Amino acid sequence: MKSIIDEGSQQCFNCGANSSVGLHVHHIFFGPNRKNSEKYGLKVKLCYICHEDNKKGVHGLNTELKERLFQIGQQAFERDHTREEFMAIFGKNYL
Ligand SMILES: [Zn+2]
Ligand SMILES: [Zn+2]
Repeated sequence: MKSIIDEGSQQCFNCGANSSVGLHVHHIFFGPNRKNSEKYGLKVKLCYICHEDNKKGVHGLNTELKERLFQIGQQAFERDHTREEFMAIFGKNYL
């Protein structure tokens, strides 16, 4: 499934760095819910720093970015689904 959040973008969703830095596709709900992120298009493009840097990256210590993306992902999902569906699939309410 294409991203329902930033499909077609050539910038880092977080910092706006352009594609010359190399963008990664980040599945917003990763770990056990990665497949659900893929199924529903809940993914964004991130530069290497915002994605994997130990301090600034969403897979590093940047829990603020991680939580913000969880909220953005849930909001995007709820454009076409109910909150009950979100919680049934992802197991939690982030909003
Ligand atoms: Zn970035
Ligand atoms: Zn990722």
